[in-house]
Amino acid sequence: MTAAPGLTLTTPLAEVPGIQPKQASLLATLGLTNLGRLIAHLPHRHERHEAESPIKDLVPNQIVSARGEVTASRWVPRGRRPRLEAVLLDGTGRLDLVWFNMPYMRERIRPGVRIRVQGQGKRMLGGLRMVNPHTEILHEDRGDPGMREERLRPVYPASERVPSSLIERAIASALPHALPLIEDHLPDAFRAARNFPALSDAYRMQHRPGTEDEVAASRRRLAYDELLLLQLGVHLKRAHLRSFLKAPALRWSEKIDEHIRARLPFTLTPAQAEVVREIVADLSKATPTNRLIQGDVGAGKTVVAAYAMLLAVADRQQAALMAPTEILAEQHFASLSDMLKGSGVRHAILTGATPKAEREATLAGVASGTIDLLIGTHALLTESVKFDSLAVAVIDEQHRFGVHQRATLRTKGGEETITPHVLVMTATPIPRTLAITLFGDLDISTIRGLPPGRRPVKTRVVAPDKRGEVYSWLRQRLDQGDQAFIVAPAIDSPESFEGEEITGGDQPGAPGPLANVHALKKELEADPLKDKHLAVLHGRLKPQTRDTIMARFRAGQIDALIATSVIEVGIDIPNATTMVVENADRFGLAQLHQLRGRVGRGVKPSACILVAEPQTPEATQRMRVMAEVGDGFALAEKDMEIRGPGELFGTRQSGLPPFKVADLARDLELLAMARRDAAEWIAGSPTLHKPEETLIRRRLMKTYGESLGLVDVG
Ligand code: ADP
Ligand code: MG
Repeated sequence: MTAAPGLTLTTPLAEVPGIQPKQASLLATLGLTNLGRLIAHLPHRHERHEAESPIKDLVPNQIVSARGEVTASRWVPRGRRPRLEAVLLDGTGRLDLVWFNMPYMRERIRPGVRIRVQGQGKRMLGGLRMVNPHTEILHEDRGDPGMREERLRPVYPASERVPSSLIERAIASALPHALPLIEDHLPDAFRAARNFPALSDAYRMQHRPGTEDEVAASRRRLAYDELLLLQLGVHLKRAHLRSFLKAPALRWSEKIDEHIRARLPFTLTPAQAEVVREIVADLSKATPTNRLIQGDVGAGKTVVAAYAMLLAVADRQQAALMAPTEILAEQHFASLSDMLKGSGVRHAILTGATPKAEREATLAGVASGTIDLLIGTHALLTESVKFDSLAVAVIDEQHRFGVHQRATLRTKGGEETITPHVLVMTATPIPRTLAITLFGDLDISTIRGLPPGRRPVKTRVVAPDKRGEVYSWLRQRLDQGDQAFIVAPAIDSPESFEGEEITGGDQPGAPGPLANVHALKKELEADPLKDKHLAVLHGRLKPQTRDTIMARFRAGQIDALIATSVIEVGIDIPNATTMVVENADRFGLAQLHQLRGRVGRGVKPSACILVAEPQTPEATQRMRVMAEVGDGFALAEKDMEIRGPGELFGTRQSGLPPFKVADLARDLELLAMARRDAAEWIAGSPTLHKPEETLIRRRLMKTYGESLGLVDVG
């Protein structure tokens, strides 16, 4: 097999022998523009086509073919779908045939005609029936075609205009040209030791498999490749960080420790103290820290971050804290301000809403080192933010940021080879398997359990017709001085949905009217919560307005905050003890758990009430799981079961390109292997610059160079 001269994998499809211009332009609509891309378009399954056989041997529910003589036919024009019915006999048995919506078949399928059909036979009243079979008329004078052989037919991801069969034909023409051009990036010995087929064989086996074993073996090879590439990227990055970049080694002493702890508003729990110990050990080394601090909602991550930042300040360096929302940044700023009252620590806040003059003053202070602590949103990532000596960067609610945003913050250290220690915090616990895949370059600390005195939040799912009872019960709680959050998905009309759209198999069912915060406030102040202080909060309010509202809520001047999911992450108001979520079925599990985490932060008993009338089985299941499972780690596992790992920690959210073949739910063993192999590989070749590594390096850079920020690795 040799490629046509001059052909490469980047040759446009229209120039590939055997591909018609019309085909090429249709394939282009699927992004299949050149030879390499076409060949990389893999079947998502294979259909087994049995060999042609006598009718009596046809196996039901499989794709089979048979030939024989039509002995009767009948056109049935009645009903919604007119149909042609026929009986096929071959001397061994009878096959009933039906063609729906194909009136032109009437002329062809008449008694006496010999045909060959292919399709799926279904058992019907003792006999076998085939609906809409692929049909060929056999003409005596042209000689019968040979018997069909057993075959596995690839089924490709397709579109309405570009069916799988068209892709199949194009690939059949292109494959012989492409295979000799495919170079393997895995060394032969490495591959052989793991029993993988060569890369070009793997592609052949996917597109034209001889057996099911070939399909499985080639899938395994291609899935491994994806996992290995990501793991190599992650380890390469880590090796680079460790050998070329230095972080400031922070001074720690018992005296400093004492000073910092005195500033914290409470005694650390043993779990927090343990994580602080892990962090101190990291920060006192010149190796840049890259640590994920995970702990359920309310576990007390903020104070751990505060400790780390104060350690930087104690060593006369700077620290930064980045939060995903302005409201959360403002809250962190307020609580740090409290902690730092009377100290000499200078701190500032920077968000998209910071007025120009203030912003310029802050930027200047950060650049000259007169500001020790900077708190903010994504705004911290903009070009103009330059630190004098950033030693610790904390990213709160990491799952809201992409991987490359973490990488950007790394570049803000001041000098080029100096990088800050980076701590990322997440309340959406990541199942371990996923953590190592997506964040394999992170060390992980876990704050287990919750601070002392907490009572579990009672969760109840309530149908909308019981809302009256919910709100009169809420009124009693407010009468006792408690506060509440009431969350509605929309601001003022159903189109203003402010949640994170649920993706995957469980798109919310019938849209129905969505509760919106303005209408809800009107409704509640008219009756059930009459005379109570209510306020609305949503993403479209001016930051100053939001600030004021949050401050008044915190101070107890507002009884219930009627909000969109802008309050989802981080907000900490211990006196708020009830969370009511309207249209709760419109929110995903992780999001509902975050919302529930806004209450149960003090010592009073708290409740979370989900008002929902779920329309889909998935939504029903989500509501049930919320009511039954309180622990965020257990919940994340459930979420993974319902939605699949890809969606939960969607590579979409992480900023990484998605896997095409690998499936984290079923390829755990391959993942473990890829991880071990990558660690060993990079240990032996920390920059991947050996001549025989050119190809794998190029593929790695192409896939992950940008998303993993490998550019600086060179
Ligand atoms: P999260 O992990 O969700 O970010 P926070 O850091 O907001 O949690 O902490 C949740 C609540 O628990 C806050 O009200 C905080 O003041 C309180 N808290 C945290 N640590 C302790 C502790 N060691 N003792 C008492 N309360 C604590
Ligand atoms: Mg938090």
